[in-house]
Amino acid sequence: MSSLDQPKTETPPRNKTRIVIKVGSSLVANVKNLTPSFAFMHGLLNDISTLRDQGYEVVLTSSGSVALGLNSVGCTIENASIQDKQAAAACGQPILMHAYRQIALEYGFDIAQVLVTLDDLENRRRFLNVKNTVHRLIKQGVMPIVNENDTVTTEEIRVGDNDRLGAKIAQMIGAEYLFILTCIDGVYDRDPSEEGAVFVESIEDVSSYMEAASGTSSLGTGGMLTKLQAANMAQNAGCTTFISKGTMEYPVTAILSGERKHTKCIAHSSPSSAWNIWLTDRLQMAGSLVIKQDIADSLFGGDEGFSCHDVVSIHGSFERADVLHVYDEKGEEIARGLCNFSSDETTIISSRPDETVKNILGYTASHRLINSENLVVLAEHHLPWDEPVTDD
Ligand code: GLU
Repeated sequence: MSSLDQPKTETPPRNKTRIVIKVGSSLVANVKNLTPSFAFMHGLLNDISTLRDQGYEVVLTSSGSVALGLNSVGCTIENASIQDKQAAAACGQPILMHAYRQIALEYGFDIAQVLVTLDDLENRRRFLNVKNTVHRLIKQGVMPIVNENDTVTTEEIRVGDNDRLGAKIAQMIGAEYLFILTCIDGVYDRDPSEEGAVFVESIEDVSSYMEAASGTSSLGTGGMLTKLQAANMAQNAGCTTFISKGTMEYPVTAILSGERKHTKCIAHSSPSSAWNIWLTDRLQMAGSLVIKQDIADSLFGGDEGFSCHDVVSIHGSFERADVLHVYDEKGEEIARGLCNFSSDETTIISSRPDETVKNILGYTASHRLINSENLVVLAEHHLPWDEPVTDD
């Protein structure tokens, strides 16, 4: 099987006892002193140890490396440049992990650090490497603590927020629940400081709220957009997300038991396959194509992919096996898929329609640009890819 062929029928491995918990910097770092919030961490790990005793397998996604490293590089949140933050992350990540480990050992379990970059999630081979490692740790009973490797990522190639990182991890391990713990008790139908803002207890279709959050009338706080995007990614993968305030006492179990106020974003009952989710729920766009309208229309009928000759225009510089966004001539994004050629190769092949690929590139291949098994036609799910601004 070539690296581009993936089993189309792969179903998402659901695990009813597997959960991902995401905690933001404002919970794990004391904002004034930029030191670890040991009290919160104790409460969290105490609760996680209860969950583990109940048979749950927990993966934690924790922010805090930048905040906890600022003192070491002599900066404040306000004056730190990107380079300062990268250096701060290098100083703060060991502080964060040391604190977690000391506390976790008190509760009788060990933790492991898993640092990832956007490429580790969006490149198929690297994604599988991370997934295997996380699974190995879970099997061992060691709790993985995931964060973005901020020290080596630059603005253009980073996930940027741990909400969507947490959702990616939830998709990766087939989690049943994603808990996003933050400084607000959940989602409101508009900015919660506005008079008459109504709390939203349960959301069936997160994508409708995301449009409101990204439009001019802002929904909740600015940081709510990434939380909703994360909830949408989780929902597509059959994972239910709880958004709630990260309190010191029982931050997770009180939500699970319904004792603490929260917004529940309910998982879709018929989630896409793990392969389709990986193909479509992307944070970065490698490139895009516009294809002929009649070919675009035929994709909805389940026709077989499309060839280089069906392309009207090519955008961006991409490599073979990058995932492309496919638009019709009306400007609608209709599909996403793994391409068989680089952008340069696609340009040459499509400009010489009467020649074989062998004649042009020197090796035998069909003109097919995206094979049907590597193409997902976007029907109803809103699938974000652009990087939002986060304040968390
Ligand atoms: N990775 C960042 C950190 O550890 C945080 C990103 C976020 O807050 O979402 O500081």
